[in-house]
Amino acid sequence: MIELPFFEDRHRELHGRLQDIASRFDQVALRGETGEVDEAGRDTVRACAELGLCRLLVPAEFGGAGLDLRSICLAREALAASSGLADSVFAVQGLGAYPLALSGNGALCQRYLPRAAEGHAIGAFALTEPEAGSDAGALATRARPEGDGYVLDGGKVFISNATIASFFVVFARTAEGSKRAISAFVVDAEAPGLSIVRRQHVTAPHPLAEIRLSGCRVPAANRLGEEGDGMRLALGTLD
Ligand SMILES: Cc1cc2nc3c(=O)[nH]c(=O)nc-3n(C[C@H](O)[C@H](O)[C@H](O)COP(=O)(O)OP(=O)(O)OC[C@H]3O[C@@H](n4cnc5c(N)ncnc54)[C@H](O)[C@@H]3O)c2cc1C
Repeated sequence: MIELPFFEDRHRELHGRLQDIASRFDQVALRGETGEVDEAGRDTVRACAELGLCRLLVPAEFGGAGLDLRSICLAREALAASSGLADSVFAVQGLGAYPLALSGNGALCQRYLPRAAEGHAIGAFALTEPEAGSDAGALATRARPEGDGYVLDGGKVFISNATIASFFVVFARTAEGSKRAISAFVVDAEAPGLSIVRRQHVTAPHPLAEIRLSGCRVPAANRLGEEGDGMRLALGTLD
């Protein structure tokens, strides 16, 4: 291994451990190619958890290893060398977990992140809509305040991990206009009103789907940060 000055001992140790993981993901690649994408996705998360990789995506105070970007890059490099599907599922596990960490909402983090670190919860990140891709600020999904929560209505497309997720971070409009109009919510996959509309097939197989939110009630406690923090959390996560 090249002695790179910006590698600390923990990176060398991780890099060494990752050298022989390819065999763990042979079956993932095979299952993905034969259409068993959900099974391949779940196998990925299980194997990543056993290897301690899911912990890399979670802050230390919630059972993780501390969100070290260099370690995450090493993990992704090794996973991608074995299976593009495995790398994608792992990356999206991070996209699901990171908005919680960024929001600083301790109670929500405590509910989801330790399970994500152990691979017992799979996350997804639901931003894109049919008319809001690159221009994410144009999203039309609404979150209407009602009682002690919100009611979400709208649709999302191209959502990775959708068919295996246990929770989604959903971005929805809580105000008109473009300034601080979008908020982020954690929605359990089994929440009434959240459904998978159809799988979406792309060249490289992975658990990708269109989802629908129809009168989907979310407690106010599941909002990440304040109303209007959604775009900051979305872009901060993608960065
Ligand atoms: C495999 C896959 C997985 C994905 N997973 C997720 C996910 O987990 N969660 C999620 O929320 N989204 C996901 N997405 C959606 C992805 O983020 C969007 O595809 C992306 O934001 C682009 O949006 P779009 O496809 O609508 O393309 P468009 O926004 O319609 O863009 C089409 C093309 O036009 C170009 N373009 C757009 N606007 C301009 C402009 N103003 N000037 C010049 N050129 C422009 C773009 O660069 C692009 O080449 C996924 C997409 C794919 C393909």
